[in-house]
Amino acid sequence: MDNHDLLLLADQCVKCGLCLPRCPTFRLLHNEADSPRGRIALIQGLATGQLDDGPRVSMHLDGCLECRACEMACPSLVQFGTLMDAARAARVARLPAPRRRLRRLRLDVLASASTLPLFAGLASVYRSVGLGWLARALGLLRLSRLLVLHGLVTRLRQPRKPGVLKTLHAAGPQPNTADAPRVALFRGCVARALEPEVMDAARKVFERIGVPVSVPEEQGCCGAMHRHNGFPGVADRYLDHNRAVFGDATVVVGASACAAELGPAVASVELCRALLHLPWPDGLQVTPLKGVVAVHEPCSQRNQLRDREAPYALLRRVPGLEIVPLPGNDTCCGAAGTYLLDQPRLALELAEPKVRSLAELRPRWLVSTNTGCAAHLGAAASAAGLDVEVLHPVVLLARALDTPAP
Ligand code: SF4
Ligand code: SF4
Repeated sequence: MDNHDLLLLADQCVKCGLCLPRCPTFRLLHNEADSPRGRIALIQGLATGQLDDGPRVSMHLDGCLECRACEMACPSLVQFGTLMDAARAARVARLPAPRRRLRRLRLDVLASASTLPLFAGLASVYRSVGLGWLARALGLLRLSRLLVLHGLVTRLRQPRKPGVLKTLHAAGPQPNTADAPRVALFRGCVARALEPEVMDAARKVFERIGVPVSVPEEQGCCGAMHRHNGFPGVADRYLDHNRAVFGDATVVVGASACAAELGPAVASVELCRALLHLPWPDGLQVTPLKGVVAVHEPCSQRNQLRDREAPYALLRRVPGLEIVPLPGNDTCCGAAGTYLLDQPRLALELAEPKVRSLAELRPRWLVSTNTGCAAHLGAAASAAGLDVEVLHPVVLLARALDTPAP
């Protein structure tokens, strides 16, 4: 998007301020420059050359979570997410080449399937030799950045080998669905190491309802991290690659942020919604699970996919669950892609009210359809000493399909 189009988009804002009370960073920091309206004014100032891109402007623009809660409140239908993505791309393009390359390298490393086993190996060593305990004892976890990293490291596991998923699928029943659309699972990049069990559970549920699925090995990252951090060209190339890999298949996506990024460009459907669309065989035994399950609604599920209902509807198929929304679901938890790594102090502050709600509700499970949110909230809950299992709703459903009826 060029400067002219960026300004056209920004000019749609009539500065009414109706979005301000919905913005998590404005609610936290009480500063106009940390609100959607203030950020749009900053973007306009940069695009018209009235403002220089210094550290103060950076602080306010980089502080945006891209949660898009403001879009939900805006009567002028300002596409704030698209605008912020374009503004970040323009700012990154103006960076000196070495800084731009360094930024790109960091994102490439995070999105790369080949570096994940290395990170997972280091995480395993960190856990097994008790470095977490040592970091806590030395008071290092009082530093936001280290606390956030510690939380991620405690959840990082070796990603499943693609071949394992394929073999498991081949061992399942071979349904007679010649006319059914082809269904393929999207594993994500970080998701395959932070929540490998989601794809296992998805495969299991699809098998039980008689729908064959494939897991193409050549699939890549969805590109969301690059798009929201100023590299739209790279994100588009990921989309092209995935479009070529998945062809005409319906692409079922476990993490709601990846589903929002892939969108109709690769015919993607978020996992809970996909399972609700399909006819379930008569007589499928779903064993009751007893307990309170709190539902966290990721911003990508609420504000981008605009489908809050899917996880609730899916969980209602499991008898015995007491399903409650996590209070404050209209506010971002602070994970927000790489935000957790870039703005750890704010990310932790945003998670605090969620943890307080969990402490009051005392649910047995907390479900979230997005990987980053689950990791962030799981770590925050565990740091607060709460005994709650954080998982994807489909993992819970797969357990109910696994458990023999009493
Ligand atoms: S995207 Fe979220 S954090 Fe950013 S301005 Fe909008 S409401 Fe605020
Ligand atoms: S609600 Fe929309 S039009 Fe009003 S200030 Fe916010 S972004 Fe601008």
